[in-house]
Amino acid sequence: MHRDTCSHGHPQRGPADYFDDGQCRHCDRDNQGRYRTRRRAAMELALALEAEGVQVMRSDPPINLRQLAAALANGFSESDGLPTD
Ligand SMILES: [Zn+2]
Repeated sequence: MHRDTCSHGHPQRGPADYFDDGQCRHCDRDNQGRYRTRRRAAMELALALEAEGVQVMRSDPPINLRQLAAALANGFSESDGLPTD
C-alpha cells in the first residue's frame, strides 16, 4: 500500500507518481534537476578557473581542490556573486 503523499509531500496516486519500487517520481525528478544544476555549476567553475590559469584537472602534481576551494571561499562572500548593475 502507498501513502497519499511521499515524505516530501508529493501526491502518490498511481504509477505516474511512483516507480515499481515505490520511489517517488517527483522526488526523483527534483533530485535529477538539482544534480544537473550542480554539475553545470561545477563545469562553469572549472572553466572559469582554467581561464584564470588554474589547471583544475592537473594530476601531476595533483591539484588540491579542497585547498583551492578553501582559498576561493575565503576571499568570496555571497554578495560578491551578485550582479553589479
Ligand atoms: Zn516526492
